[in-house]
Amino acid sequence: MDVSAARGGSSATDGMSVHCARLGKVYAEGRKAVQAIKSVNLEVREGEFVSLLGPSGCGKSTLLMIVAGLETATSGSVTVAGRPMDEPRTDIGIMFQDPTLLPWRSVLENVLFPIKMMRRPLPAYRARALELLREVGLGDFAEHRPRHLSGGMRQRAAICRALVHQPRLLLMDEPFSALDAITRDEMNIALLRIWERHKITAMFVTHSIREAVFLSDRVVVMNGRPSTIIADIRIPFPRPREFAIGDTPEFNALCGALRDKIGEAYRGAGTVAG
Ligand code: ADP
Repeated sequence: MDVSAARGGSSATDGMSVHCARLGKVYAEGRKAVQAIKSVNLEVREGEFVSLLGPSGCGKSTLLMIVAGLETATSGSVTVAGRPMDEPRTDIGIMFQDPTLLPWRSVLENVLFPIKMMRRPLPAYRARALELLREVGLGDFAEHRPRHLSGGMRQRAAICRALVHQPRLLLMDEPFSALDAITRDEMNIALLRIWERHKITAMFVTHSIREAVFLSDRVVVMNGRPSTIIADIRIPFPRPREFAIGDTPEFNALCGALRDKIGEAYRGAGTVAG
């Protein structure tokens, strides 16, 4: 059986757009209610790369987790590929800041772990896992243990793990924020190349304005709690992108405009901008 057959289910091949309408989330914290997000309207089209920026605590992760089906909205609705998002789905891949690889498993076994959890046939996905590892430059490390990998290499393995089951939507919550600046730049390029090749819809939470501009088709700015969207800015640079675009006046003007918007968001949150 090959993976295209194993993928199954119409949702994996349907247009993977995300549609959030008047989305709200209130956490119950003891007797207190914390309104994390309030009336968020957001549309991410199939194949688009959209980043979410905003002050800490403004609800970026909450929004992403609702889209992932790992949190439930308390008002409004989310649909992914036209289906209401009310539970975790197998046509979505997720990456977090911490790659959390199993130390006693090889890199290849870690990449194949979601397949095992989904009870799909491992041999059908082995070639894809190895191909993904080659794509991110880890072809020679498939049989190594994670302790032999650097931080950047572990996140490369985590990208492969997030993509091994052929999701059409990739959700990333600050995946590179623990990495040093040079490794982070390398990871941005690696992510873009893999996103371009696999033509997936992507949502990316970050605190870095430059990272958001470099990666994205659109950058959405959220304001302080309870969060709403205060800016939705199209990034017009052609693809494939190279780091040299970061030196252009256009790139820096967009970063400046976003910095102003985030300053507004911090003031809205009653916080001093960093
Ligand atoms: P961000 O990702 O922008 O930093 P979060 O989505 O993590 O923001 O959090 C938004 C708000 O919701 C914060 O005030 C946070 O303290 C609160 N929050 C997040 N998760 C929970 C939870 N599980 N229980 C209670 N409050 C939470």
